[in-house]
Amino acid sequence: MKIAVLPGDGIGTEITAQAVRVLKALNLPMELEEAPVGGAAYDRTGDPLPSATLDLARAADAILFGAVGGWQYDKLPREKRPEQAVLGLRKHLGLFANLRPSIVYPELVNASTLKPEVVSGLDILILRELTGDIYFGQPRGIRVAADGPFKGQREGFDTMRYADGEIRRIMHVGFAAARKRSRRLCSVDKANVLETMQLWKDVAAEVAAEYPDVEYSSMYVDNAAMQLVRNPRQFDVIVTGNMFGDILSDEASMLTGSIGMQPSASLNDSRKGLYEPIHGSAPDIAGKNLANPLATILSAAMMLRYSFDREDAAVRIESAVRKVLVQGLRTADIYESGTTKVGTVEMGDAVLKAL
Ligand code: NAD
Repeated sequence: MKIAVLPGDGIGTEITAQAVRVLKALNLPMELEEAPVGGAAYDRTGDPLPSATLDLARAADAILFGAVGGWQYDKLPREKRPEQAVLGLRKHLGLFANLRPSIVYPELVNASTLKPEVVSGLDILILRELTGDIYFGQPRGIRVAADGPFKGQREGFDTMRYADGEIRRIMHVGFAAARKRSRRLCSVDKANVLETMQLWKDVAAEVAAEYPDVEYSSMYVDNAAMQLVRNPRQFDVIVTGNMFGDILSDEASMLTGSIGMQPSASLNDSRKGLYEPIHGSAPDIAGKNLANPLATILSAAMMLRYSFDREDAAVRIESAVRKVLVQGLRTADIYESGTTKVGTVEMGDAVLKAL
């Protein structure tokens, strides 16, 4: 297992350090190599994604990514900003499938803004297509309207497009994931209005026929947005396009209420993946031993599950995380009275001990 470790900026270095300790403690045949990315790489080389870092990422089977960004880089030209490194890695490695699980741990049920009875026991996976859709479709731009009631005025336009094969491959990732979970998959579209989404729905149904052991359904995106806060537990795996997934996955992340707990995976065709917490570099708490490392540790568990097919090792990490929560240990972001507040390193220590 060749793993590229790209800690990045801010709390990125603190949280990946803890995840690396956990990975090493598993005693699996694993090679870990670290490289700078984001602002840290820009400071050293003038490039947020230097070729040496990209080469390492290309050669690896999986990438453990911390977070990038910082106030000192906000005035740089767009192509030099740390965030470009994430977009560059997605593009160069063809990471088209973004998986975001939302799990409400019983010990953290009060962290959600929704009522405990709505979210308790929640365990859903949102799968978002990451490299197509209206975010990338051409043509796009701002032009002068040639006709219609606003003729002669500026008009913005974008193009939503998905090819058959593009939809098919994300659906296969979804059904394969559903087989490892509760075997239910809901495809989310807007086929009642958009041609692209009619194709999405047709292809989803065709792929569903290849997985008779998975219960398949489809839902319009507006209804899905409502159902996610009305009764989120009705879902297991949700598969959707880039734009709808962008919105629904952020909505779902709030069901659990704690940004420091949420891992993610972005996979390509050959199951190479980039694994990272969904949060950013949190410059406000960086270097203070305050960051919650659990999202990154849980991202390492996803790596073992999806890139290395080591469900056993993934479950070991997830059980260890669960155990420290049961023990009442909390970083500041998930602290509530009656629990024990610990720092980043101490949380890492506790997970290692639980392992
Ligand atoms: P953020 O996610 O870094 O922080 C938002 C809030 O959540 C902050 O108050 C922060 O302290 C808190 N927080 C985040 N992670 C935490 C953790 N693990 N433990 C405890 N608290 C945590 O978002 P932001 O402040 O909007 O962005 C900061 C920088 O991160 C920006 O430069 C942004 O562009 C970048 N960013 C990077 C990524 C990425 O690397 N994939 C993602 C989002 C934002």
